[in-house]
Amino acid sequence: MDQSYRVRAVIVPLDPTPAQTQLLRSYCGASRFAYNWAVATVKKNLDTRAKERVAGVDETELTESLSWTAWSMTPLWNSVKDDVAPWNRDVTKHAFRSGVANASAALKNYNESKKGMRQGGPVGFPKFKSRRSKQSFTLIEFTRTWSWFSEDSRHVRLILPRFATDPRITRRRDQLQWIHTTESLRRLKKKVASGEWTVQAVTISFTGGRWQASFLVRQFVVPSPISIRLRGSLAGVDLGVKHLATLSVPVKGLSDEHGHVENPRHLDAELERLTKLNRQLSRCVKGSKNRAEIVKRRQLLYGRITRTRDLYLHRLSTTLAGSFETVVLEDIDVAGLVKKSKKETKKALSRSILDAGWYELRRQLTYKTEDRGHRVVVVNRFYPSSKKCSHCGETRAKLAQSDRVFECSTCGITLDRDVNAARNIRDEGIRLLTNEASTVAGHQPGTLNAVSRDRETEPPRRGRGDRYQSRTTQPTRELSPLA
Ligand SMILES: [Zn+2]
Repeated sequence: MDQSYRVRAVIVPLDPTPAQTQLLRSYCGASRFAYNWAVATVKKNLDTRAKERVAGVDETELTESLSWTAWSMTPLWNSVKDDVAPWNRDVTKHAFRSGVANASAALKNYNESKKGMRQGGPVGFPKFKSRRSKQSFTLIEFTRTWSWFSEDSRHVRLILPRFATDPRITRRRDQLQWIHTTESLRRLKKKVASGEWTVQAVTISFTGGRWQASFLVRQFVVPSPISIRLRGSLAGVDLGVKHLATLSVPVKGLSDEHGHVENPRHLDAELERLTKLNRQLSRCVKGSKNRAEIVKRRQLLYGRITRTRDLYLHRLSTTLAGSFETVVLEDIDVAGLVKKSKKETKKALSRSILDAGWYELRRQLTYKTEDRGHRVVVVNRFYPSSKKCSHCGETRAKLAQSDRVFECSTCGITLDRDVNAARNIRDEGIRLLTNEASTVAGHQPGTLNAVSRDRETEPPRRGRGDRYQSRTTQPTRELSPLA
């Protein structure tokens, strides 16, 4: 079987010294500067051409249009950088390059969206980044990818500006070169050294109140044949706010006897704390020291909530992928939920976390099941999983969010709401598999996997290449409706 590869992100928390922090900030600023320069340059070119058209200049006489690709923008940047950013020698060229590349990608999205070549909602012309935008930059170096890691597996290499003039950099090269990490890099280093994984890029960002490095690694996988035994083990999973998940089949050690998987208990407490901080924040004077302090605390809390949730999701996805040949999930209308949840504050928060958790679970399950030759099946979002009776199939017209128990007026059965939903999802999954088996007789193994199925119902969002970024950008996005 031919080899294919998968791209994944490995997040490493960083613990930079004050001097390193300063340098990281200047790199982020440089990336933002180059981004804004690229957007402004293109905008100016477009404006000039528009004005000329209005003035009646002949199409052939117009100012030449600018190419937006990173290939042509980067040399252009290099030719002007000494004029527009005389300080550029004290920053690594990687930082500027990543800013230009990001701008070029944003412009491409805008262009494709305008031409109707892009899925999802309309993408506007890229906005300028401000000091308050997310701080990040990307380092790309294909040769010597193992050299990112120190001998003691405790430090990540930071690329320093080669022609720096600032004595704060030139005199301290040795102290700046390696950033301490709070987690060991041993596993990552071993995989890279053996050639199993290749580092494609390293993005350093200030995320969830701390600095982190996100290693984008390319991993070669030998796909195992997908098992589509109908009688193989199968579980329906209902994700919720009260319980993290409810399984149609209880799993010892993961769920209770009803199939409920506990929501991390301290999450509720953290949410209370977050609401309190938000309330305090609304009373603060803008620009005050107090406010800055609360903002900082809120960032850290966001980060902690995400990380806790992540840990639980990983445990859940690993166990599910290992215990069942097929895991059935429900599609969720995220856009609709966000719209609805903007109205209610507390609930909205749990909701938006649920959304993010759901995406993350689906992503994790997809690759973890693939690794084992198992699969994920996604049930249509219009399937009435909570309104239907899993016993007799009767559908109730209405079921309030607060009704914890499902009572069927037809057959008289009484079931926990989430258990009922999980069983419905399981049954719908079985139905889909049965249909599939009868309609796709001479199928290719690849056409039946979870990824191609995903694509059909996947809501409009990032392209494939951006997938790895989902984790690093989540904390701000998932909570933004309330921030
Ligand atoms: Zn019934």
